[in-house]
Amino acid sequence: MLIGSKVSSGIAIGKAFVIKEEEFNIIKIVVKDELKELERFNEAVQKGMKELHKVEKNKDIFESHLMILEDPEFVGSIREKILDEKVNSEYAVQTVIDKLIKIFKEIEDEYIKERISDIKDVGSRILSILKGESENFINVVEKDSIIIGKDITPSQTAQMKRKKVLGFATEIGGVTSHSAIIGRNLGIPVVVGIKNLLNEVNTGDLIILDGNKGIIIINPDEETLEVYRKEINKIQEEKNELLNYKNLTTFTLDLKRLQVNGSIGNLKEAEDVNKNGGEGIGLFRTEFLYMENDGLPSEEEQFNKYKEVLKKFKDKPVVIRTLDIGGDKKLSYLPMEEELNPFLGLRAIRLCLNRKDIFKTQLRALLRASIYGNLQIMFPMICNLNELRKAKKLLDECKVELEEDNIKYNKNLLVGIMIEVPSAAIISDILAKEVDFFSIGTNDLMQYTLAVDRTNEKISYLYDFNDLAVLRLIKLVIENAHKAGIPVGMCGEMASREELIPLLIGMGLDEFSVSPSSILKIRKIIRSLNYIKCKRMVVF
Ligand code: PEP
Ligand code: MG
Repeated sequence: MLIGSKVSSGIAIGKAFVIKEEEFNIIKIVVKDELKELERFNEAVQKGMKELHKVEKNKDIFESHLMILEDPEFVGSIREKILDEKVNSEYAVQTVIDKLIKIFKEIEDEYIKERISDIKDVGSRILSILKGESENFINVVEKDSIIIGKDITPSQTAQMKRKKVLGFATEIGGVTSHSAIIGRNLGIPVVVGIKNLLNEVNTGDLIILDGNKGIIIINPDEETLEVYRKEINKIQEEKNELLNYKNLTTFTLDLKRLQVNGSIGNLKEAEDVNKNGGEGIGLFRTEFLYMENDGLPSEEEQFNKYKEVLKKFKDKPVVIRTLDIGGDKKLSYLPMEEELNPFLGLRAIRLCLNRKDIFKTQLRALLRASIYGNLQIMFPMICNLNELRKAKKLLDECKVELEEDNIKYNKNLLVGIMIEVPSAAIISDILAKEVDFFSIGTNDLMQYTLAVDRTNEKISYLYDFNDLAVLRLIKLVIENAHKAGIPVGMCGEMASREELIPLLIGMGLDEFSVSPSSILKIRKIIRSLNYIKCKRMVVF
């Protein structure tokens, strides 16, 4: 038995499928069929060119990157390496690029020096295309598997279809990493931070994954299996009992009305919210729409998806968050410069304000979809007033453009922000005057307040949901929101920590947005609580 951190509850019994770490690193592999490998590389180059046409709007960058990809000497030397040395494409690309950069660095010419970053970009584009293939591991996974990996990226997790994957466990990763969140949204058990996992488990081993206790049992005996089979039946019975709460309203015992919404990353999960009696969508993480694609989704593609979700929810609120890429979420087709601190870097609204083309495409799609339901737009990671105003200005620009083209949108559309950076919490009184609602993103608010990387299991003991500093910030945000007369929700994982519900209600939180599988449980708890008593708990 190995112990880790529990991330998503439930129990699964199935065969292990181990993702080997080497598959994602660049190592030298001698290939059997070099012609086939060459074909693989050629296809990656073609795909890279297509991506450039779709993604790169800056004419200079576009042209210089395309030139590199079309340069017979550059691609020729990679091809030669694959054929002569019979090596894998990744290794050939990396070594040719390393060599070129070394040569360029020695040349005293500014123009040549500037080309280094272009070569690096082109290299990382081709490498991520090649890597993207191995990320499509789901195709080789057998039905009813439990995935085991050192780390599992958000885009790998996004591929896991419930029927194929019963659960997953990793050596590294924190409880609010995006892979963990997707696992929870899928409603499958997840355990992370299990030391030595890859040494102990082999593909094909029988595994019990216990997400309730945060443990994994390898090749269990019949007696243990029997105990767990009974436990699975019990969990199913509890789930059935919770369905009684599906059509009930969310009131406390003393009739304070609250809202339990669902957090989603795709259309399938939107259906799950409805099936579980969610009163709306409190957070749609749109970056997963971008991750599912092999290029930036067009305005039309996005418009159709947003429209579909909105129609499913009719007049119920649907909070769609604009693109939050960066940190632990990457788009394979959008190369970004390496950053020393990606979570503190060009992420979320910062990236969108830097790539206005990408941002405005999304905003236009959202505005056009707004007439089909009760859309509310939410900006992530706002850290000061200036940033909020810039984002709103771009939204206004899109509105004017649509009006000029005689395209309809909802003029009463609500606009809110996530409070997930401590600076935003501290000036929430000022921000509250310029938005229609707040949603507290505790996953990041905790990470940034406590200086604890949310994906790092080594310091997860500091990632404490009861931390006083974080709770005080939340209290402040709720007070400031209410003073300005706007509602405040919570869409971070704290909203589904059962032990904290009384405190959050006591502080005055209006809305909880949780994974679809947690909605009914949270409603059940709220209906058992007394608001006045909860208020007395807030003594800090
Ligand atoms: C959060 O930070 O709490 C949040 C809801 O956003 P994400 O988890 O996608 O960063
Ligand atoms: Mg966040």
